[in-house]
Amino acid sequence: TKENEESTKNEETKQKENILTKEEGKTEVGEIKPGINLQGYCTNADCLTAKIKLLVWANLGFGDVSFASDKTSFCCPACKQTTVTLVVKAIFFNSEYSISFFGSTPMKGNYYQSSHRINSGLSYQLKARKIKQHATSLEDLIARSEAAMTMVKPSKVGDKARLLEKIRYDYNGDYNQVFNIGSFTILCDNPTKLQAAVAVMKDDRFNFTVSEDEDFFQRQSKTHYKFHNIKLYLPKYDVYIEMQATLKSFTTLQGYTVIENPKLSHLFYEHIQAWKSTNSEDEEMKKASDKTLTKINDIICEWIDDKEIHNIGILKPPQLSKKSEAEINGNIPLKMAHFVYEQLCTFAPEKKKGKAIYVTLYEYYKKYVIGDKYPASCADFALLLQEARKQEMEEDIAIAQALETYIPLQANNYPHIDTNDNEKQETFDCYQY
Ligand SMILES: [Zn+2]
Repeated sequence: TKENEESTKNEETKQKENILTKEEGKTEVGEIKPGINLQGYCTNADCLTAKIKLLVWANLGFGDVSFASDKTSFCCPACKQTTVTLVVKAIFFNSEYSISFFGSTPMKGNYYQSSHRINSGLSYQLKARKIKQHATSLEDLIARSEAAMTMVKPSKVGDKARLLEKIRYDYNGDYNQVFNIGSFTILCDNPTKLQAAVAVMKDDRFNFTVSEDEDFFQRQSKTHYKFHNIKLYLPKYDVYIEMQATLKSFTTLQGYTVIENPKLSHLFYEHIQAWKSTNSEDEEMKKASDKTLTKINDIICEWIDDKEIHNIGILKPPQLSKKSEAEINGNIPLKMAHFVYEQLCTFAPEKKKGKAIYVTLYEYYKKYVIGDKYPASCADFALLLQEARKQEMEEDIAIAQALETYIPLQANNYPHIDTNDNEKQETFDCYQY
């Protein structure tokens, strides 16, 4: 029939399109990565790309490089030999860069994906640095960031003490690695809207340069949060600000979040951030704390499945008894014991993610705060009692015999009536037994 013919035709065109896109994909081997990327030809006789003259990408990362475009020896992504001897194109990705050929003034920039033709026979010098701020002091950086943010949206920089702590522990004191002083977040309902938002930001009609583009939906970020991160450069203030786009279902931002107890993960992070452990016991708990935080983020961002929880009464950690507030606050393991205990007592999740976070937190509490051998909850305690009782009973012959003669009684929600119909109704006159 005609319909069938049409669908066969459609199949054929689909297949042709597939072949075409495959062929298009085949013309390049390798991919671009942060830093310097050089595209050229491999001349290793044993390399498949050389046989069919495919262009390959050599990734050099951040740094400096000088070369004559037709006398190079870069690493081929296919055969792993240093046989890429002719370079035709350079792309800088997520970097501050400069490029110059023999005798020319260097061309500088920080566009996140900047492509340059490499001419045959010329000598080139390329530099690429990881994106960094250009401030002369933290105050300078804050002033620039605030000025830049008024262009985007009015806001004030947050708690400076916390900022200093973050710079000290996360960036070894280097304030020029900080980008979230001026930052804003875009919350989207679904992945399609998020893609659109990112595309709008990358549009070059605005007064800023997109300098770094990182997609943490496909690959996991350090914290496992799922977001699209873009660093924007505002030439007027010589400063970078950060834009993060994420889905509403993943955010823990107050006022927008749908996650129960949204502050938990951030408080947990704040408690362990500055922790420098001094002994192996602390070190083990610190590692477990980091892992637990990652697990909580995995749940929030749907990297892992949810878990079931049951009602359990949490028992107070014995190490906290007779300790003053000052003693607890001066010792991170005690502080964590107190924090997690309080959380487990007050957090009563009802939704899937909340429950999964609770279970993760409880597992951490049971293993690293209380210790595996001791009960962490009333349920654990009851289980221990039950086991102890079972053992006692097995040892007691009199009880064991009594148990053998024990007649189980079935409870009904209707009363026993003293007639002959009772056999059918399956009720018992308790007085008879
Ligand atoms: Zn090769």
